This record gives sequence, C-alpha cells and structure tokens, in this order.
Amino acid sequence: MSTPLDDFLAFTLTQEMPQPTHGVLPSGVAWRCLGTGVLVCEPVAPTAISVVVSAGIHGDETAPIEIISALLGDIASGAILLRVRLLVLLGNVAAMKEGHRYLDDDLNRLFSGRHHALPQSRETARAAELEAVVGDFFSAAVSNKTRWHLDLHTAIRPSLFERFALLPQRAMPYGPEVFTWLGALGIEAALLHRSGSGTFAHFSCSEHQALACTLELGKVMPFGQNDLARYASVANGLCRLISGESQPVGASLPRVFDVVASLDKQSEAFQLWVDNDTPNFTAYPRGTLLAQDGDYRYEVTHDEERIVFPNPRVKVGLRAGLMVAERMA
Ligand code: ZN
Repeated sequence: MSTPLDDFLAFTLTQEMPQPTHGVLPSGVAWRCLGTGVLVCEPVAPTAISVVVSAGIHGDETAPIEIISALLGDIASGAILLRVRLLVLLGNVAAMKEGHRYLDDDLNRLFSGRHHALPQSRETARAAELEAVVGDFFSAAVSNKTRWHLDLHTAIRPSLFERFALLPQRAMPYGPEVFTWLGALGIEAALLHRSGSGTFAHFSCSEHQALACTLELGKVMPFGQNDLARYASVANGLCRLISGESQPVGASLPRVFDVVASLDKQSEAFQLWVDNDTPNFTAYPRGTLLAQDGDYRYEVTHDEERIVFPNPRVKVGLRAGLMVAERMA
C-alpha cells in the first residue's frame, strides 16, 4: 500500500492531507501526518532520542527537500531502520510550489515568537504552526534525553566553504563531539552565533534545549536539477543519525568561526560595499569599510573578517550580512 512517505515531496506539493492520516509500515514504524509537510515517525522500540529534520524553510532551497524526501522513501521501503523518533518538516510549502524563497516574509526570521510582532502573513501563520508542532513533538517524548533539530538549507550565492553550519547562541559551550559530528557530515565550517535570532534552529535550541543547527549545504537550484551526489555525506550522516548508528571517526573537523557582527539594514539608505557576486566567506582585512547606513558605518575590526550571506536587498530591519572571524585554537 502506498503512503505519503514513498514520495513525500511529490505528495506535499500535490495534496494537503493523506487519507487515512496515519498508518504503520511493514517494518512496524508508525507514521502520522499532522499537516501539510508535517510528518512524525515513531520507531518500533521506545527511544530517548527525538530528531527534527526540516527543509524548505526557504521554499526555493530544493536539494535538502529532495534529500529528506529520499530519506522517508528509504524508511518506507525498509532500507533504513528507524531507531529514533523523527519529525520531518517541509517548511514553506506555499513558496515551494511557486519556486520562491518566501511569499510575504522570510520564514527563517520569524521564530521565537517574532511572528507576533509582524502583520499577519502566510509566513507568520506557518511560523506559529511549526513552533507548535515542534513543541508538541518534543513534549510527547517518553524521555527527553536527546533532542536534535537539523534545519537544512542551501545558499543563494557561491561559497568558499561549500557546506557549513550555523550553531545558535546558547549558554553552554558546544563540546568537541558536536564538531566531530559536523565533520562526519562533510561540514567544512561551523559558525557560532553570539546572540539570539529569529531562526528555526535558534527556536529549538532556546525554547526546547535541542542540539540544533542550520546546515547550508550548497547552492539553490530548481527541483530535479540538483546533483544529489554532492549531498551524499550529509544524506549518509542523517541516515546514520536516525538509524542509531555512530558516526565514522577520522573525518576532518570544520573550521570554527565566531559571528562578530550582523550588518543590519536600518533604512533604505543602507549600502553594502561588496560586489553582488561575492562568495560567502570572502575575507577582508582590518579597516575595510563594508557597510554604511546614515551615521552607521561598519569597518572590519579584527585582523581578518569574512562575510556570509551578503544581501543588501533584504527588507529594512533585517540582516543584510553576517561578519565572522576564525576562532584561534
Ligand atoms: Zn535558507
């Protein structure tokens, strides 16, 4: 019997809810569809590990959506034996259908309640819905020993590091095991936030104490045009995580960067002095003037800083770029 897991992407793009809304796979894994693009899988044996995997929070970031859809297909076929509680989320389904990053608001700026502060939009409603689903999922666990949230993205522009992770700000430092794990996924750089933000990963970290990260895995392409072989290290790492296998040792560790500044667009006068095609992680020496907005000027204050996500076309009030500096061992 076919289920939404067989091709979750195609199912989500064409239908709202399956009938019936839940079922049990031949492997014994129980699945339940909780809404558009929202699917929970429970393994046969009880477990203390709960994993949220999300993609498509930006609707045009297709490769991670295809990876997740393939992962569910492997669970359905029995190729992957699920040993954790799993919540799969396809974030901005309405924008996915249009092939857009978002429709009204950038969804990944709306979490941790920031959606309340904005006028109602398609994305503010979705942010509230996703927050509730994640909260219910974590609180329904028999044991809360281990909580993960991996939010998968692809970047708009080229990057000097093809795969990188953004780790939300939290009180407890990230241990070496986190970087080892990221290295096993083929992550080349890890960025540590030093303040809060409206991202989905920050929400799961701060509100639900999950080990959460945003993973940037390559470049935006339309559906069907992704070379999924480039994503094999990530797909394999996810597969090991949800099937309860340990990660291989010996992978190279990511380079670690601290986020040292956010270039915030305060007005329409904002100017970013970098070329449009500047790759992520382009380095600038101390003293370089990078942004201006009225009286505000941003000059590089470390020996070297690198720019990530430069985008002067964001809405006023949002981040037009991040500055990071490499952490010295
Ligand atoms: Zn994204």
